[in-house]
Amino acid sequence: MQRIYLDSNATTPVHPEVVTAMLPVFTEDYGNPSSIHWFGQHAKALMDDARTQVARLINGETSEIVFVSGGTEADNLAIRGIAESQKSKGRHIITSTIEHHAVLHTCRDLEKQGYEITWLGVSADGLVDPEDVRRAIRPDTILISIMHANNEIGTIQPIEEIGKIAEVADVYFHSDGVQSTGKISVDVKKLKVDLFSMSAHKIHGPKGVGALFVKKGSVLKPQLTGGGHERNRRSGTENVAGIVGFGVAAKMAREGMGSEMDRVKELRDRLESGLKKNIDLIRINAENAPRLPNTSNIMVDYAEGEGLVISLDLKGIAVSTGSACSSGSLEPSHVLTAIGKTPDEAHGSLRFSLNSMNSVQDVDYVVEVLPRIVDRLRELSPYYKRA
Ligand SMILES: *Cc1c(COP(=O)(O)O)cnc(C)c1O
Repeated sequence: MQRIYLDSNATTPVHPEVVTAMLPVFTEDYGNPSSIHWFGQHAKALMDDARTQVARLINGETSEIVFVSGGTEADNLAIRGIAESQKSKGRHIITSTIEHHAVLHTCRDLEKQGYEITWLGVSADGLVDPEDVRRAIRPDTILISIMHANNEIGTIQPIEEIGKIAEVADVYFHSDGVQSTGKISVDVKKLKVDLFSMSAHKIHGPKGVGALFVKKGSVLKPQLTGGGHERNRRSGTENVAGIVGFGVAAKMAREGMGSEMDRVKELRDRLESGLKKNIDLIRINAENAPRLPNTSNIMVDYAEGEGLVISLDLKGIAVSTGSACSSGSLEPSHVLTAIGKTPDEAHGSLRFSLNSMNSVQDVDYVVEVLPRIVDRLRELSPYYKRA
């Protein structure tokens, strides 16, 4: 069966050029970058090339990139690292209700440890109001953590405005940039972030590798003790092959940013207009907010999200309902409830997330297949005919 992958916010296929660059690192260039001999120094040079590529993608300095095991670790290192290094100054942290679980659950854990968290709500479009951030700042506030782009609905937060507020207040500012990196242009200097999380596998790199941008001068308490790798910020022998792959993926993302993402946006818009034309009673979440070019989150009234995902899967189409982390559980998506949807509405949502390897044919197939699936599911709904 022909299979179409439209779940790129969960993960992406590794680009063949990334694989090609990684392979020799397993077999020939296998040195430990901490070793002083040729093998070690060669591995270190490969790793530092990758560091430069990742830094360039976000306009940071090479020395400001700390390689970690992925977005989840980057978020943990940023938040726990600041919380622990700054606790003598204060224990108050500001974040939002639509963060990824890696931020949400980390903040909840800190809450249990005695930190105080202000959870900012968002507008119906899924946006944090920078004025809310300003108002929440107190003398004991040590960290603001607001994601750049949301993984479920794709909204892009006003990070630059929040960055200015954080700078004036002299409070550390972290942003989870896992979804924005490589999809929209990111300039950490302009955004005024001190910490910025990234993950390779969301941009055609391998799983299990990511990076935290740590602005020069930031004081983080390391979360792993050991040999003092990554300039004492993250101990553990680096995942050199993964890092090399991440470097190539970052370079490709930077070079293709404009053209590839324009094409992806056209596909996304074609999908949305096709679905709106062929299915009645659907709504696109955050349709008019600043959004990632690849993400479409739609709500199909009188049809259940899980049923839609399963029916689409039987037709070879992979999408998700809510975030990958919350699928399989009956909890409605915390992001959709935060933008004011009822649990029923949240359960009827579908997330399409595209990448540059998708085609017009992929999108047209969904537009052809989904209306029939929706019709069939709605026939089973006791409420639909009365509408
Ligand atoms: C995927 C994702 C993460 C987690 O990254 P991993 O590398 O899978 O640990 C964190 N934040 C956001 C917004 C994500 O989309």
